[in-house]
Amino acid sequence: MRISALKAVEPGVLRVVATVLPIELEGEEVLLDAYAYQGDDAAEQLVVLVHRTAEASEATIPLVRIHSGCVTGDIFHSLRCDCHQQLQMALRAICAAPFGALAYAPYQEGRGIGLFKKLQAYALQDQGIDTIDANIEIGAPVDARDYTLAGRALLELGMNTVRLLSNNPLKQQALRALGISVIERVPLVVDPNPHNRRYLETKRLRMAHDC
Ligand SMILES: [Zn+2]
Repeated sequence: MRISALKAVEPGVLRVVATVLPIELEGEEVLLDAYAYQGDDAAEQLVVLVHRTAEASEATIPLVRIHSGCVTGDIFHSLRCDCHQQLQMALRAICAAPFGALAYAPYQEGRGIGLFKKLQAYALQDQGIDTIDANIEIGAPVDARDYTLAGRALLELGMNTVRLLSNNPLKQQALRALGISVIERVPLVVDPNPHNRRYLETKRLRMAHDC
């Protein structure tokens, strides 16, 4: 893309490009609008996929998911977390709604600590340590995610009032702090499996998630 085509949105947020993304969802083709954003750091990139039908009016409040990238879960359908199932549930809900958006943040891998450290923490969990203590053990924050870029992108897309698909009260608070009115938080609860039961329990008991 030519530099001249780049559009400054506000300090810290730059809309790089708007395009369309046809996806396959449960055997159906769905056409989504795709907006890519670049933060100040080169690694800080975000794609927002927007579903909007003719039924949506100016007053329709979008159903929004902010999804942190998870290579092991989203791509390989790892059973150690609930990311793949949550992503699929969110896409289904968003594509069933007249107006919805999925903001996908690849750089927030492993709650923001990155792929290598996430797998380092997995190795410690193999020895019986829970997900929070494993992060502490390797000197990584328990949750290093920052929702500023996602929040600014949503505001820039006109989504200043949303229904949020999330189990995480902190995400709701973060969006509110950025000036987004979250009128409802819709939990995405998945059925546990033997590999992620403890991970989900830890998120519920030690991080106040709804899962
Ligand atoms: Zn995951």
